[in-house]
Amino acid sequence: MSQANTLNHSFKSHVLGYPRVGEQRELKFALEKYWKGEFTEQQLRDVGKTIRQQNWATQSQLSFVTVGDFAWYDHVLSTSALIGHLPKRHRGDSDISLDTLFKVARGQSNSGCCGAAASDMTKWFNTNYHYITPEFSADDKFELSWSQLFDEIEEALALGHSVKPVLLGPISYLYLGKEVDSFDRLTLLPKLVAVYQQVIQRLADLGIEWLQIDEPILSLDLPSQWLQVFKPTYDELGGTVKLLLSSYFDRIDDKLAIIKTLRVDGVHLDLVANEAQLIEALSVLPNDWVISLGVVNGRNVWKCDAHYWLENLSNSLNGNATSARQIWIGSSCSLLHSPLNLELETQLPADTKSWFAFAKQKVSEVCQITKALSNPSEYAERVLAYSRPIHQRKNSINVHKPQVQQKLQRLKEQSSDRLLPFPERQAAQRNALNLPLFPTTTIGSFPQTGDIRRLRSQFKTGALTFDAYRKQIRSEIKAVVERQESLDLDVLVHGEPERNDMAEYFAEQLNGFQTTQYGWVQSYGSRCVKPAIVVEDIERLEPMTVDWTRYAQSLTTKPMKGMLTGPVTLMCWTFPREDITRQTITQQLAIALKEEVSDLQDAGINIIQIDEPALREGLPLRLADQQHYLEWAVDAFKVSASSALPETQIHTHMCYSDFNQIIDSVAHLDADVITIETSRSNMELLDAFEAFDYPNEIGPGVYDIHSPNIPSEQWMEQLVKRASTQIPKERLWINPDCGLKTRGWDETEKSLKNMVNVAKKLRKEFA
Ligand code: GLN
Ligand code: ZN
Repeated sequence: MSQANTLNHSFKSHVLGYPRVGEQRELKFALEKYWKGEFTEQQLRDVGKTIRQQNWATQSQLSFVTVGDFAWYDHVLSTSALIGHLPKRHRGDSDISLDTLFKVARGQSNSGCCGAAASDMTKWFNTNYHYITPEFSADDKFELSWSQLFDEIEEALALGHSVKPVLLGPISYLYLGKEVDSFDRLTLLPKLVAVYQQVIQRLADLGIEWLQIDEPILSLDLPSQWLQVFKPTYDELGGTVKLLLSSYFDRIDDKLAIIKTLRVDGVHLDLVANEAQLIEALSVLPNDWVISLGVVNGRNVWKCDAHYWLENLSNSLNGNATSARQIWIGSSCSLLHSPLNLELETQLPADTKSWFAFAKQKVSEVCQITKALSNPSEYAERVLAYSRPIHQRKNSINVHKPQVQQKLQRLKEQSSDRLLPFPERQAAQRNALNLPLFPTTTIGSFPQTGDIRRLRSQFKTGALTFDAYRKQIRSEIKAVVERQESLDLDVLVHGEPERNDMAEYFAEQLNGFQTTQYGWVQSYGSRCVKPAIVVEDIERLEPMTVDWTRYAQSLTTKPMKGMLTGPVTLMCWTFPREDITRQTITQQLAIALKEEVSDLQDAGINIIQIDEPALREGLPLRLADQQHYLEWAVDAFKVSASSALPETQIHTHMCYSDFNQIIDSVAHLDADVITIETSRSNMELLDAFEAFDYPNEIGPGVYDIHSPNIPSEQWMEQLVKRASTQIPKERLWINPDCGLKTRGWDETEKSLKNMVNVAKKLRKEFA
């Protein structure tokens, strides 16, 4: 290990942010009680205060504790409140209160006349976190309006902590919002900068030395008009407190020429996302700037290979630093995206547990690496010992399974195409399925009642034997099939009663995943998800859905659609391994699904849907990386479907809109039918399908399942008619825009009845 000159540098430690939900999801439960009226505001505030104190106590081993990362609902929403920028429909003329924040986030639906719709949510870069989208109008004003940040700083200072606040920077704030009338929101920047100056002045008055100012959009391919505003903006913002300009999730080395001219005092680099940028940064950035090195992955659950970083950082820092620098060691991004505390996991196998680090453990990793860099000889041994479990894992035959490797190898020698091209398959399927014009179907799940949830949890805890469970799930399936028959739908589904979640179910069925007890990560507001972890090569040991689906098919002469979650979505909604690529993980999943498709087909299932709602979300942030991703993602989907015979109809389903950009990849999936969310955009998405001349069949969702409203026949009829002007009617399906699991039975039956009526009416009209 080269270690001589690292001593010239000085080292500090920090994390970019800490999860706010609490180790036992205390914030979630407190919020939900407050919303139901079971908690007073004071009780809610007390829970928040305790969480913050715990978070700071954990971070007190670092050079700084981060303040400003706690949010009652979302940190972008907190930023909006701070600068007095909340939609008028929620705020009116009154002061901002906690309830104002919740109105913006959740809407105000009670009164028929005066309801105010919630602000939109947007996915936070390529994570699974959703933020409340700021809404901009030309006449927006900004004014310091919400003192949470300053109050929490005082709170932390009073506890004796060394405080580094974090604030979402003005350019990213503006970029991440949307215009609600037609103007260019960049014109608001001067006003925004003025209020940010006031914020920064308040921080200075509180005695703050360093502010972490997040401009994560620096990780994107930015249009030049956005890049150009960095210099003037930071000319205004710099000079009061020291600014650590932070970006994460991807590289920023292409923007160093601009960054180095900014009036800031340091830069954070996400080295987990891109390690190579360090060399360039060390040579380009002024010597008196702090460079913060994000080496502990804030968005995955794997232990940091501290030994690797110690070696590599020592090398880069010695090789390139001409003089001593201030180096901070940190998490790659905020720890918001990792679960809280590994210590709580009592059911993990010991060796598996030794591979992981959750937020609390990540703080210790940052601390340890910092100490080791400052004092290599004393810590080298300890760091090596810490990294040993991950090193051992690299060669474990349980992790790298020869039989899976062989299948991957064989995959390379085979085509992932279907046996025949679409027009021939379409003819074969028409022959076999004999469906009417405008066939009707649903997306898979039917209402998940309390009874169904209880059944699953009783089975999970062992209170119910498998036989008893199977019998009851079967009776649920039977009821769902009967309801669909009496609604006269054309293609039926079994309703997914055995699935708690479309990704978790398959992670539990497949070999190679590890689930946790408390591995919760905030998705939005009080909502958390508990993704499974890919720990080994993935293998399907036995059929996962065949028994349920075969049973469902035995109850009806109509076609029963098998229901699978696609390989890309399974990969996106779990914590991936870090020792192999996302591409390889997805290929392994694709092989498992291909085997399932084959078994479903052998069991007499002629239509199989492979859901890929997350195809778009796995897209890398940088354009230069996107094409490669799309190629392997599409190929993995095709592999899953490649065992289907020509007469077996493969469906896919996608939602969350915004598929315009990837429409040609969607076409390359070559699914026989795609059902897609279009109703909220009033079928606008179809423009893309039309412009592209999408070749296969499409079921544009004709009603929004996210709303409890029952869609009228007229409404759906005009949507289908509009669709039929864009897509030849022979290729159109009629279906809701997503699964129905969150809806009640009453509204579901009424809505589907109207939907089937529309299909019948149009069949006559178009005959
Ligand atoms: N088949 C799934 C369901 O109906 C699809 C859900 C989704 O697209 N998110 O629930
Ligand atoms: Zn959907």
